[in-house]
Amino acid sequence: MAETTGIAWTDSTFNPWIGCTKVGPGCDNCYAEALMEKRWHRVQWGSGRARQKTSASNWQAPLHWEKHHEDFALAHGRRRRVFCASLADVFDNEVPPQWRGELWALMKSTPHLDWLVLTKRVGNVQSMAPAEGLPPNVWLGATMVNQAEYDRDVRKLLAVDASVRFLSVEPMLGPIHGGLDLHGLDWVIVGGESGRGARPIHREWIDSLRRECDAAGVAFFFKQWGGESATAGGCSLDGAEVKQWPCTA
Ligand code: SF4
Repeated sequence: MAETTGIAWTDSTFNPWIGCTKVGPGCDNCYAEALMEKRWHRVQWGSGRARQKTSASNWQAPLHWEKHHEDFALAHGRRRRVFCASLADVFDNEVPPQWRGELWALMKSTPHLDWLVLTKRVGNVQSMAPAEGLPPNVWLGATMVNQAEYDRDVRKLLAVDASVRFLSVEPMLGPIHGGLDLHGLDWVIVGGESGRGARPIHREWIDSLRRECDAAGVAFFFKQWGGESATAGGCSLDGAEVKQWPCTA
C-alpha cells in the first residue's frame, strides 16, 4: 500500500493481496512479478502458488483515507482515487473468495473513495462481483493490449454495470482500430511499455485510438511512451500532456 503513487492516473494504491498468474501478452514483463523476484522476495508468481493477503494494518489504510476524505476534497477539489491491486488481480480465480468478500465490504465502508479496479480477467467479473453488483464507488477497468484482446473482451466489460467503465491499453502492443464501438465506455488509458526489453508503441496506433475516442466522446489519457529507460519518451504528445478524465459528476 502507498499513500501516494507514481501511477499518473491515481492518488493512492491499495493491495489487498499479492500474487498472480500471467494470462496474456500484456503480462509478459509483469512489473509486480519482477518486483518480487528482484526486491521483495515475498510471493512466487504463477498457477498453484499461494497468493498472500496483506497485513491487517495495510487494510486499515483506506479507512484512514475515508476518515480524512474532507481534507482531501478541500485540497484537490475532488474525491481520492485508489488503484486497487497493482500487485495482483482482484478477479484472479486462485484468490480465496472470502478475501474478495472482505474487499467488497471495505469498498462499501469507504463511500467517499473512488476505487479503480483494473483487471486482465474481465470475463470473471460477473461471477465474482457481489450478488447485488459492484459497489457504486468502483470504477471497473479492463486491460486490452491489442486488437485480438479488444475483440474478445470489450463486450464483457460493457456487460458489467459499473459507475465508470474504462479501457486500459497498456502496454499497447498493436493497433486497435477500425469501426470501434466505444459508446458505453467512459475512459481510455493508453501507454507504452517501460523497463528492460520494453516493446515499442507506435504513434499511429495512439493517434488512431485517440481519434476514435474523440468521435465517441470518450475521455482519453495518454500515460507514457515507455521505453527501456525510466524517462524515455516522456508522456507528451507534440509537447503537451493529454490527460482527460471521465466525467463523474
Ligand atoms: S494480471 Fe497483472 S499482476 Fe497479474 S501477471 Fe498479469 S500483469 Fe502481472
